[in-house]
Amino acid sequence: MLRSIPIKIKVNELIVKTIELYKQGLQHCIDVAWGMKIRNNVELHPFVYKDLRKMGLPSQLSIACIKQSCGMVKKAKSNPIINKVSIRYNAPRSFSFKNNVLSISTIQGRVKVPIKIPDYALKYFNWEIRESLLTQSKDKYYFTFTFLKETPNCSQHNNRVLGVDLGINKIAVTSENKFYGQEIKSLRKKRDRFVSELQSKGTRASKRKLKKFSGVWNRFMSWTNHNISKSIISELKEGDVVVMEDLSNIRTTARYNKWIHKWAFRQLQSFIEYKALSKGIRVVYVNPRYTSKECNRCHSRNTIRHSGFFECKDCGHSLDSDINGARNIAQRYMQNMCRAIVNTPVDLMSDDSVLNV
Ligand SMILES: [Zn+2]
Repeated sequence: MLRSIPIKIKVNELIVKTIELYKQGLQHCIDVAWGMKIRNNVELHPFVYKDLRKMGLPSQLSIACIKQSCGMVKKAKSNPIINKVSIRYNAPRSFSFKNNVLSISTIQGRVKVPIKIPDYALKYFNWEIRESLLTQSKDKYYFTFTFLKETPNCSQHNNRVLGVDLGINKIAVTSENKFYGQEIKSLRKKRDRFVSELQSKGTRASKRKLKKFSGVWNRFMSWTNHNISKSIISELKEGDVVVMEDLSNIRTTARYNKWIHKWAFRQLQSFIEYKALSKGIRVVYVNPRYTSKECNRCHSRNTIRHSGFFECKDCGHSLDSDINGARNIAQRYMQNMCRAIVNTPVDLMSDDSVLNV
């Protein structure tokens, strides 16, 4: 399991110069690699290494630069131009961290930077430190530590684990950035208007109409759920895992109390289960607590959400709030935190809210 923890650092002139030089070096490597159609760092090395050293970059950073440039050229459709740069550091060759002091390689030897580790991140500093990044964002500088913890159950897992977050406006959002049923939002508004018109009339005829319409809407939602579950499952193969939130205790979770559509979500889960079972895909449920509040990158709950967007105040991570939720759901399973209720059948029609939707 990997975790990235960005920590704001104070930099001196040497570090600023190192970043600037690294940026120039990276652009040079990219230009050469692009011009010569080289995509492999071993091949590129003899053409640029001496230039980088002459520019003043230390050996380890030159090597990092060459590697990074090939990675970028490989993905690019045209000669890449660098605006922002992240320097890759490897422990112990180009950086080390001891007693809250970071020691990083610069153009003039190692520079020591004292660091204050935020409380939420303390536990990760017991893990193994892997390749980490020095980045600049406007006038702020971050050192993003990457930590690794071997978790046997997760590393044995070669299959895909897909987190699925259920919501009102986007019916399902996956940890792999797919949205389903976004068109429902506007239809639901129309339905609400229609229903309240009929309700305000209060005549016998309008009540009859209301009842009939409620059936129409429920059939439409079932059809929608059928399609959504079908497309989610069609993306997966035998052995993969779908992770969703366990909604059986939804009454205790504020977020779901608003849902007058509970049955629709339960129905969608049961459709997903049903289709998953027939393809040998596992369905697992995790505890829904804080899945929308927690940052999927650093797991801090010091976060804000506004108009569908999620932002972490601790690490600066920002993304669609439902994707954040879906990723948390998937990660919860990966971390073996699931209160495993595997393939439990869901009682669809027991909910008395059916006629009210
Ligand atoms: Zn965060």
